[in-house]
Amino acid sequence: MAVFKFGGASVKDADGVRNVAYVLKQFSNVKICVVISAMGKTTNSLEHLANAYFYKTEAAEPILEEIKTYHFDICKQLFPDFTHSIYTELENTFVELYWAIEDEPTQGFDFEYDQIVSIGEIISTRIVSAYLNEAGLKNKWMDVRSLIQTDNTYREGKVDFELTEALVNKELIPAFKAYEIVVTQGFIGGTSENFTTTLGREGSDYTASILAYCLNAENVTIWKDVPGVLNADPKWFGKTKKIDELSYHDAIELTYYGATVIHPKTIKPLQNKNIPLYVKSFLNPTEEGTVIRDGEKRLNIPSYIFKVDQVLLSIQPKDFSFIAENNLSYIFELFSRHGVKINLMQLSAISFSVCCDGDAEKIKALVEELQSQFKVLFNAGLELMTVRYYTQDTIDTLTANKIILLEQRSRFTVQMVMKNEIGT
Ligand code: ASP
Ligand code: MG
Repeated sequence: MAVFKFGGASVKDADGVRNVAYVLKQFSNVKICVVISAMGKTTNSLEHLANAYFYKTEAAEPILEEIKTYHFDICKQLFPDFTHSIYTELENTFVELYWAIEDEPTQGFDFEYDQIVSIGEIISTRIVSAYLNEAGLKNKWMDVRSLIQTDNTYREGKVDFELTEALVNKELIPAFKAYEIVVTQGFIGGTSENFTTTLGREGSDYTASILAYCLNAENVTIWKDVPGVLNADPKWFGKTKKIDELSYHDAIELTYYGATVIHPKTIKPLQNKNIPLYVKSFLNPTEEGTVIRDGEKRLNIPSYIFKVDQVLLSIQPKDFSFIAENNLSYIFELFSRHGVKINLMQLSAISFSVCCDGDAEKIKALVEELQSQFKVLFNAGLELMTVRYYTQDTIDTLTANKIILLEQRSRFTVQMVMKNEIGT
C-alpha cells in the first residue's frame, strides 16, 4: 500500500487532472490512497470568501461565483458529456455553500472559516475521482472527515491518532478490498460532533503522513512541480541542487527552519513507523526524486533557507534589572497569546532578542502589550538566513554587503538576521 499526495499546483487545471491519471497509471500494480489538495489557489480564494462573509468586508457572492466558474470550466474540459453526474454533485455542493453564506455566522471566525474553506478539497476530490473513473482507474471517493478525527481547535485541528487509526482500520482498509485506488481529501478533518476542521495551511502533506501511519503504508510520495527536495528555494537562489537522499532528522530540521517543500508536521509520524517519503516531480514521474528515510548520513552540501520580511524585537527591562525567568515566562506567554511564532531568539543579561515573521497586525498588538512592562526596540524589513551544514565560505558569500544584526551558530546550523548595507 502506498500513499500519494497531489498538491494544488498539480491539479490547477484540466491538464493537471489528466496528468494525475497518467502518474497513477505508472503504478498499476500497487494499492494507492490518493490525497488531494484544493485546485490551484482555491484555498486562498475561499479564505477571501470566509473573510468577506464573516467580517462583511465586501460582497461574498461574487467571490463564490468566481470559485464556482473556475471549477466548472475545468469540468467542461474533462467531462464533455454535460449529463455526467459530476455536474449535479458540484451544483449541490455549491448550493449548500450559497445557502450557508446567506445566513449570519453563528460561531467564531475560525469555526466558520473551516466550514467554508474545506469545500475546496471536497470539490477537487470529487472532480479527480470522477475523472479517474472515466480514465479507467476505478476508485472510491472517501470523505476524510470520517477518518481523521481532531479536537475542535478550528484552523489547527489536533489529530487524535488512536481514534483515527481505529477508523482507518474500520473504513479505509476494507475499501481497498474492492478498489485499487481510494481518493480522499488533504488538509481537513472532522470532530466528534461532525464539524469540519482544517489542519493548518498547506496541511495536505500532513494528511498523507497521518493516513500512511494509520495504514502502515510502505511509502508516501509527495508529487510536486520540482524534481525533489532542493538545497535552496529557486525563488531566491540561482543555483540549486537536488538532494537525492535525506535523513528524517535533516528533513525535520530543514522544514522547521522554514523550507517550504514539505509541511513540517509531515515527517514525525513517518519516522515513528519508519515509512520512507519520496518527493518527486509530477511532470517526470519515473525520475528518482528525493527519498527521506532513516539514516545517519549527513548532507554533503549546505542547504539554505531564506526568509524575508522579518522583524527583530529587542526586549529590555525598564528598570535596568536583568532579564530573568519570571520575565521570560511572561514574555513567552504574550508571544503565544498573540500568535507570534519565534524564528530565532537570543538572551543576554539585559535584553532578550527575538526574530519573527513581520505580520504587522500581530506584532503591533504584541509590542503594545510588551511596552507596558518593557522597553522594546524594533527593527523591521530584515532577512533571516539559515544554513544547515554551513562552511565559512558559504557564510562569507551570503553576508557580503550585509549587516548582521544577530547571529547564532550550532555545530551544523547557522542563522543570521541581516539587512542590506546602506547603498546596496
Ligand atoms: N489547500 C490547502 C492550502 O492551500 C492545503 C494544502 O494545499 O496542502 O493550504
Ligand atoms: Mg497547496
